[in-house]
Amino acid sequence: MMKRMKALSLLSGGLDSALAAKIIKDLGIEVIGVNFYNGFCIENVHRQVRGPSRCYTPLKAGHSIGVPVKLINVADEYLRVVKYPEHGRGSAMNPCIDCRIFMLKEAKLLMEELGAEFVVTGEVLGQRPMSQHYRALMQIQEESGLGDRLLRPLSAKLLPDTLPVKKGWIDRDDLYDIKGRSRGRQLELAKRYRITAYSQPAGGCCLLTEKRFGDRLRDAFTHKGKEEMRIEDFEILKAGRHFRLSKATKVIIGRDDHENRFLEQFEEGRWKIMILDHPGPLALVEGDPAEGEEVQPQLEFAVRLTARYSDGKDEDRVRAVIERDGKAQMVEVEPLDPDDEWIKKARI
Ligand code: SF4
Repeated sequence: MMKRMKALSLLSGGLDSALAAKIIKDLGIEVIGVNFYNGFCIENVHRQVRGPSRCYTPLKAGHSIGVPVKLINVADEYLRVVKYPEHGRGSAMNPCIDCRIFMLKEAKLLMEELGAEFVVTGEVLGQRPMSQHYRALMQIQEESGLGDRLLRPLSAKLLPDTLPVKKGWIDRDDLYDIKGRSRGRQLELAKRYRITAYSQPAGGCCLLTEKRFGDRLRDAFTHKGKEEMRIEDFEILKAGRHFRLSKATKVIIGRDDHENRFLEQFEEGRWKIMILDHPGPLALVEGDPAEGEEVQPQLEFAVRLTARYSDGKDEDRVRAVIERDGKAQMVEVEPLDPDDEWIKKARI
């Protein structure tokens, strides 16, 4: 009896990866799904800050196509990719080529561990400018170490044959020749394969492709230093309004209760500002003022800014507590004028 082949399929929760997995599954291959959490997936970040409000999309997508999904957290190891990409970045801070190489290296290890023969992805030739043009796809394939054990079923007819085709496990004619950014063919296939559980495509999936997040990351690299940055320094960039007070210090102000609670986890080693007498945000001030800079004026300015976002913003004076490492002091300040030009300039 012929051995049933096994494949590992990367599932992001989007339509393309669900389709790719389903196409291979329907050819009689055993498919196991995997979703790598790198710390910057918007759906996951949303769940981290606001709590889960629905089933995690990769799990839902896997369930809808009958594929079991492994969730693997690679956030710690991935930070190196974000800090030091060897193949440059996209229009924001997204290191797409290095990111794909990293994920596929992880997939290769898992493939070997599970005794699978090849890896499947939903990549489409020409869909993304940085990581899905022909040369990039080939480079990713080679540098990941997967070589011809990487199958991209949606564009396979436009790419060199891979091991499953060469070995006759899969017929090339059962694969597709989809190219470019249009979603038409994928939507047709979604109907044919009855796939409805997937997240919406294009641009909304990865925090690293967002301009504002990119600005914050660049600012943190400049002022804190890449080497110094730990996972919590990345976490704190994911919530709140961020303002640079000086070269060394920055204030982060929660926008709602979810963000206040999220930010509060990172109070250790930072000043925490809480507005008294009025509902208002929690703010953190991070970084130690440089030599020659005075602490107190900077903190009071941060309190004025925080008060501007509280319900006491129209009062003449607002009281607040500033706390750090168990030591607290009370201050009374005039809320910053909402139209103050500094607010726009300092916002990151
Ligand atoms: S968009 Fe984000 S997750 Fe996707 S390849 Fe680029 S860096 Fe990686």
